[in-house]
Amino acid sequence: MENKNYGFGTKAIHAGNKKDKTYQALTMPIYQTSTFYFNDCEEGGRKFAGEEEGYIYTRLGNPTTSVLEQKVAALEGAEDCVAVASGIGAVSSIFWTMCKAGDHVIADGTLYGCTFAYLNHGLTRYGVEVSFIDTSNLDEIKKALKPNTAAVYLETPANPNLKIANITAVSELVHNYKKEIMVVCDNTFATPYLQNPLKLGADAVIHSGTKYLNGHGDVIAGFVLGKKDFINQVRLFGLKDMTGAVMGPFEAFLILRGLKTFELRMDRHCDNAMKIANYLEQHPMVDKVFYPGLKSFEGYEIAQKQMRKFGGIVAFEVKGGRAEGIKLLNSLKLCTIAVSLGDAETLIEHPASMTHSPYSSEELKEQGISESLVRISVGLENVEDIIADLEYGFSCLK
Ligand SMILES: *Cc1c(COP(=O)(O)O)cnc(C)c1O
Repeated sequence: MENKNYGFGTKAIHAGNKKDKTYQALTMPIYQTSTFYFNDCEEGGRKFAGEEEGYIYTRLGNPTTSVLEQKVAALEGAEDCVAVASGIGAVSSIFWTMCKAGDHVIADGTLYGCTFAYLNHGLTRYGVEVSFIDTSNLDEIKKALKPNTAAVYLETPANPNLKIANITAVSELVHNYKKEIMVVCDNTFATPYLQNPLKLGADAVIHSGTKYLNGHGDVIAGFVLGKKDFINQVRLFGLKDMTGAVMGPFEAFLILRGLKTFELRMDRHCDNAMKIANYLEQHPMVDKVFYPGLKSFEGYEIAQKQMRKFGGIVAFEVKGGRAEGIKLLNSLKLCTIAVSLGDAETLIEHPASMTHSPYSSEELKEQGISESLVRISVGLENVEDIIADLEYGFSCLK
């Protein structure tokens, strides 16, 4: 695809594609192979030395996966992309690349539960100091920066309460302090359709490809995106030598298939979520709604500036508390109780006992993640049906 000015939906279908010269297949075939043969020893030597292009072994690269990497890079506006086996594979591959013992990392305290566990219980075992702060407060970042800070890590909107950080302001502040510090943004909730952190000043982006990018609830996957040199290091060290969290060609094929409808799906997710957020906001049995598209939401103004629409995740606090939240979930008929997000089905979960159980109850309190918080991943169903189901659930609380 030569035209860089194509629209997002066109790129999601065409960017990165390679014409199959062998059989002229329209769809990228699944190159389900671990290794690739060399015509002679010299060819193998040249490929290992990086003097000749071509594939060697699927842990280092694979034709099906490469097409997906180039497509996701085009969508995110990144120089390069490496596909990995999961979102946590992306987190661990990037940190093993960026950090060594003696370094310092600043991370937001509100994160996907297992990312928090990786940083809080994992990386710290290897001599890396991690400070958890609120990245929506620039003064806190200023205070936390140190000469040995190697990376600043944030999610915006954050999991599970959609907290918004100002990517431009954070990146400027950090780079003014020291330009080598990597600002890394987990863009899973927003997706490349709604927000492009690299264009806003971040150095690298990670995604759980399990969620909206694949979109069909049948794959675990991840991506790391950024400058060519850096992605090369992630591929040839963080991934190849450290985590080995390689995406399989079949997973790459499924995500390529999912991406054909990416723009259509995202528009529907966002439209449905906005309607559900409005419905919940006026509901007498709801204390508070967390959705970046609501004027009442704390991060609304920054979200307006840095996001195209506001995504498919809505969180809310049920009046009463934990027991009421759980009873609501247990009463629903259409919305499925499940973690994960970004699928066609509406999924609903209780962060305190599920996705955010790696946080202790004190840590949950510190992050303002209440025991009555419920998170909905709004699906692609007809929105009236989702609202009717929630209404039924609320009626069971009376
Ligand atoms: C799911 C998720 C992850 C982890 O991704 P996996 O593919 O499950 O490993 C990381 N960050 C966010 C924001 C997520 O929602």
